[in-house]
Amino acid sequence: MRKPIIAGNWKMNKLVAEGARFVVDIREKVPTNEDVDTVVCAPFVHIPFLSEAARDYHVKIGAQNMHYEESGAFTGEVSPSMLEDLLVDYVVIGHSERRQYFNETDESVNKKTLAAFEHNLLPIVCVGESLEQRENNETMSFVEGQVRQALDGLSDEQAKQVVIAYEPIWAIGTGKTATTDQANEVCAHIRQVVKDQFSGEVAEEVRIQYGGSVKPENIEELLGQSDIDGALVGGASLKEDSFLKLVEAGQ
Ligand code: PEP
Repeated sequence: MRKPIIAGNWKMNKLVAEGARFVVDIREKVPTNEDVDTVVCAPFVHIPFLSEAARDYHVKIGAQNMHYEESGAFTGEVSPSMLEDLLVDYVVIGHSERRQYFNETDESVNKKTLAAFEHNLLPIVCVGESLEQRENNETMSFVEGQVRQALDGLSDEQAKQVVIAYEPIWAIGTGKTATTDQANEVCAHIRQVVKDQFSGEVAEEVRIQYGGSVKPENIEELLGQSDIDGALVGGASLKEDSFLKLVEAGQ
């Protein structure tokens, strides 16, 4: 049985005091880690406080990006060891906004995914097609290429622990959710790709999230699908009550 994972992606939102209040308010209300993994992926400046605030509770803290190098002349960047030092649990890698606005490539996504495992961080690797690609029937081949490149070089044990977030770009922040059939079809294909690339055992264990306008009204149907093991959520993760509803649906 794969444990559901609900991850909120705050993107570039919330001042530090607002983020702190959010985690302090929800930390006693989330279900236990045995039922569902609850993750808050916050901007870097929030992480020192949030990591402390979440420590003895069932909330895990994630970053939204990192560099793959250990240290050095990379002004403005944050390294995997810096996140490890703050006891961060997860790191989002290759979000479509990073691919679109910050030149993230499949190659850098792969380097970051490998670096995450060197530093006890679990990567949430984002993949997903554009509207144009979907309309040209390129979704499956495009997403397959992204998955294969992102996971290249991982051991079976590491691949089992990766979280893959399937996020069709046309559904992110647009209010347009993929239908549950569309979402599950691509998640099932991703699982098949992982089976080919690694093994059936890895494919059975790897967790695949759907992301794209997930909200309390549609999460249960999405999580009811055979190959959807959780959600990566932007807008609906910013308010405590809706985030808690999403996490509760994951139990
Ligand atoms: C996201 O940030 O990854 C996302 C899916 O955003 P939203 O839920 O707002 O579509």
